[in-house]
Amino acid sequence: MLSQQQKEQLRQWDIAHLWHPFTQMAEYARSEPLIIERAEGCWLIDINGRRYLDGVGSIWCNVFGHRRRELDQAVQAQLECVAHSTLLGISHVPAIRLARKLVERAAPLGQWGEPLTRVFFSDNGATAVEVAIKMAFQYWQQRPAEQGGPKPKKTKFLSFGGAYHGDTLGDVSVGGVDLFHRMFGPLLFPTYRAPQPYCYRCPLGLKRETCQIDCLQACERLLGEHHEEIAAVVIEPLVQGAAGMIVAPEGFLRGVRDATRRYDVLLIADEVAVGIGRTGTFFACEQEQVAPDFLCLAKGLTGGYLPLAATLTTERIYQAFLGTVAERRTFFHGHTYGGNPLAAAAALATLELFDRERVLEKLPERIAQLAGWCDRFRQLPHVGEVRQKGLLAGIELVRDRLTREAYPYEQQIGAQVCLLARERGVLLRPLGHVLVIFPPLVISREELDLLCSTLEWAIREVTENPPPH
Ligand code: PMP
Repeated sequence: MLSQQQKEQLRQWDIAHLWHPFTQMAEYARSEPLIIERAEGCWLIDINGRRYLDGVGSIWCNVFGHRRRELDQAVQAQLECVAHSTLLGISHVPAIRLARKLVERAAPLGQWGEPLTRVFFSDNGATAVEVAIKMAFQYWQQRPAEQGGPKPKKTKFLSFGGAYHGDTLGDVSVGGVDLFHRMFGPLLFPTYRAPQPYCYRCPLGLKRETCQIDCLQACERLLGEHHEEIAAVVIEPLVQGAAGMIVAPEGFLRGVRDATRRYDVLLIADEVAVGIGRTGTFFACEQEQVAPDFLCLAKGLTGGYLPLAATLTTERIYQAFLGTVAERRTFFHGHTYGGNPLAAAAALATLELFDRERVLEKLPERIAQLAGWCDRFRQLPHVGEVRQKGLLAGIELVRDRLTREAYPYEQQIGAQVCLLARERGVLLRPLGHVLVIFPPLVISREELDLLCSTLEWAIREVTENPPPH
């Protein structure tokens, strides 16, 4: 146990030195910081021994809860062998085994296109997508004669309004969250942008009940006009996460894949958030029978234990990078800790446990329970739309349900709700005015009820007496 003095010291040093990501530090410095010390199961425990239900899975990555014995043991066993060794020019045991396992996992996608047989490891979601972007670019520069030769004009990318693929500059270039990305405009490469498939606030001003998924048609048109310069389309399959858990209309992903095939454009599926069972299937792409050319995984890949990412691709792409050293076809990209052995061991244990625990078979019950709660959230007067896919949900708060008027950003309505829920022991992090539910996949019935009932209460409290701004 930490002494009172040690706790006070931690609070002071936190504010004095630690710069938190996506956090307005001036406000943080005035708040009472939440400092986590331990965890067990779906619960995080702070330095005062207070327990918080991990309602967003430690930012969308936790699968089996914390301190899961099998994962702890896998990491400990790997520690007995080696904590870190590089993949640059040499190999190591857990990375090899994990690559094999991932290729096996992804094999079912191969029935709808080319199988994903090659795995490039890095260390977080942003790098997983950055790697795919650079590989796709380089592929067209040096496509071998057997495949039709290079297409050097294919240097651009197409992505979607509201997209989020990470915070490195390549990912920000294909990103579309204005709040995060606008500042960096002058640093970015130009990207074609298709309309966001956001039915509640349709960028084309249409209604889902009567539209023909016109946003998909707009995407197809852009591809038709510019495919000669487009290397790849980057997409978050089924759900745009950071945009506010925006669930795309059924068939959208499938339609994008078909269009990319028609126009000889590659498809990068960013399953960093939606992969590893989150949407009810192991990969989100399965739900629309899509085989992408690149599949990006991170977050839940290690069960939420350690930073690790994988970019899977096809034999065709891989072949384009082969040659003599002198030919300079090598993929000159890598990260010191990419494929780290401890993280790879955690990922191997995650995949094993996923099967042993029959996570996918048990999920439908929890998903149905969440659906029941979503119906309740829909009754609340300031809830505009509730979007659910598998075991994730986004609850969009609105000032006025009829006009769909949003709360002003300054009011930080989502943050206010989460702060109140936190006081009752449920830890959540909103996306602006959208409340997010993204718990560990193994959350119990009682825990999910607690999460949702606390959230319902907090939404009522805050929206009935909104804070001044
Ligand atoms: N892609 C998607 C779809 C994401 O949701 C995220 C993170 N929320 C990322 C990429 C970036 O992952 P990381 O934070 O691990 O860099």
